[in-house]
Amino acid sequence: MVGEREHTTNLTKFYTLLLLNEAPRHGYELMTELGEKMGKKPSAGQIYPLLKNLKKKGLVTCQTTIVGGKKRKVYALTREGRKTSAMLMTRFSDLVSIVLEPKLTKCAHCGCKVYEGGHRERIKGKTLMFCCVHCARSYKRHLVHN
Ligand SMILES: [Zn+2]
Repeated sequence: MVGEREHTTNLTKFYTLLLLNEAPRHGYELMTELGEKMGKKPSAGQIYPLLKNLKKKGLVTCQTTIVGGKKRKVYALTREGRKTSAMLMTRFSDLVSIVLEPKLTKCAHCGCKVYEGGHRERIKGKTLMFCCVHCARSYKRHLVHN
């Protein structure tokens, strides 16, 4: 399943950028926290090529520090990386609002927001949403004239 793997990689990339946006982390830390967020801990074979790729794209920097006598590579976002993560978050919250607010539509005639109820009508094979029957009527009248 190439598609599914691609999806998982994108999700891992998304969470990696979000985590690094919170604070710099080393590889093992990232893996553990990704595991918590995604319900499945990514393998080193997944996470290190991903980090390498992000580094190549200039989104992530890597510094070797000594933690507890051990060499650790600490990853952090670059300016560009922070921009990308902000963009992803905006895109993601747009997506979430689309999923969570399917009822929030605009009246096809006057453009006002229709939260619930409203008036639904099938016109020329398309189901359109109106705030009221009067708007639907005006809309249809307008169609005839055009
Ligand atoms: Zn209306």
